Amino acid sequence: MGNEVRVRFAPSPTGYLHVGGARTALYNWLFARNRGGKFLLRIENTDVKRSSKEMEEYIKEAMLWLGLNWDEDIVYQLERLEIYRKYALELVEKGLAYYCYTPPEELQKEGGGVECHEVNPEDYSEKPLAIKFRVPDEGTTEFDDIIRGHIRFKNEDLGDFVIVRSDGIPTYNFAVVVDDHYMGITHVIRGEDHISNTPKQILIYRAFGWKVPEFAHLPMILGPDKKRLSKRHGATSVLEYRDIGILPEALFNFLALLGWSPGDNREIVSKEEMIRLFDLKRVGKRAAVFDLDKLFWINSEYIRMKSDEEIYELALPFMEKAGLVKSDEDREKFKKVVPLLKERVKLLKDFVDLSEYFFKDVEKYDEKGVKKHFKEGVEERLSLLVEKLKAIETFDEKSIEKAVRSLADELGISAAKLIHPTRLAVTGRTFGPGLFELMAVIGKDECIKRIERAIDWIKAQRRD
Ligand code: GLU
Repeated sequence: MGNEVRVRFAPSPTGYLHVGGARTALYNWLFARNRGGKFLLRIENTDVKRSSKEMEEYIKEAMLWLGLNWDEDIVYQLERLEIYRKYALELVEKGLAYYCYTPPEELQKEGGGVECHEVNPEDYSEKPLAIKFRVPDEGTTEFDDIIRGHIRFKNEDLGDFVIVRSDGIPTYNFAVVVDDHYMGITHVIRGEDHISNTPKQILIYRAFGWKVPEFAHLPMILGPDKKRLSKRHGATSVLEYRDIGILPEALFNFLALLGWSPGDNREIVSKEEMIRLFDLKRVGKRAAVFDLDKLFWINSEYIRMKSDEEIYELALPFMEKAGLVKSDEDREKFKKVVPLLKERVKLLKDFVDLSEYFFKDVEKYDEKGVKKHFKEGVEERLSLLVEKLKAIETFDEKSIEKAVRSLADELGISAAKLIHPTRLAVTGRTFGPGLFELMAVIGKDECIKRIERAIDWIKAQRRD
């Protein structure tokens, strides 16, 4: 292994991969790729009750979707119980750990303060025993965190701690050290919530005489209200972002900037550049703020950077799922719709709402639009426009524009007085892409039908 940098992401498969975990994985990945080292994956599934294969699969799928591929085989903690036991016994032999007995009624109690007395194992051969690590009463345990600088803990505050439970399952602090040593981990990059575990882990490394890795504890992620990040802030699991049409490149870019910056104020940074520039020394100590609007903005930028064909392929599943695109004919039409809307969407799923009227009849007209654009006399103007449109042979953007503008000239009104009501009649909305372009995509017969229907609707309103 030599001087190769080796890092790992070590999720517990007890829940989905969320923003915090994804950012931890991503920083490990970037660090490894920057140094030409290895990024490894370890599944910490010792919490048998809460872990599931389903969550493990989810985490892997989310990592691969984000482009966080791991090197070498996955390490599973549950397959290594014998090894933890062997190492724990080694510490017992050295007098650095001891057996202890917890009365069953104490085991029932959840949480801290579980009584566990040091015992002679021979006297307890029938009873399940845990193994506890002996922490020196005096002195300090210190380390230099790459991000947070020098950190010192008083040993007396740590207290002896269980390393293997009476059921034979190791505790997190013990398994993590045995595994990080076995995997040759050089840098432990993880969330700040693990700082208080680090001195315990360092003491275990020293007990074995193993080299202690470097540590880098990443700052917390908060919502814009400076409270702990939660669903309330729109922070969901990674694949939920995929399912609303966030591009993996955009989420990657966004997560990378949650605590790190390339050194200038750029918000859009390519993956290649991030690999080149990533440096743990440029990760701030202060909590990072999660801003969903910023993620959506970054996403819209990535959508614009892609070709119409790429966006067509990526957005099509959303259109099909929504039932808007059903046939080859629909698909051909959607191909023409993509360039009209590409600049207007933040999420791929936005195509569904923004393009509805290309595939479906208009069911209602925007209320404010009706008040503003369907005024006295508009029905005559629209009828005259229908006559002009009927006369068009090649129904394209240019010919439609010509029809609208020439009618406006003849009537001595501004083109806007025709454009707004026509848009409302054809799309039901007051905003959207250029009217002439969208009418060309919808087609002559359909446009005429919709305008005639709007005229009837307006007349009916007047009567009421
Ligand atoms: N399984 C631990 C977690 O998910 C890993 C912590 C570590 O990286 O050491 O928080």
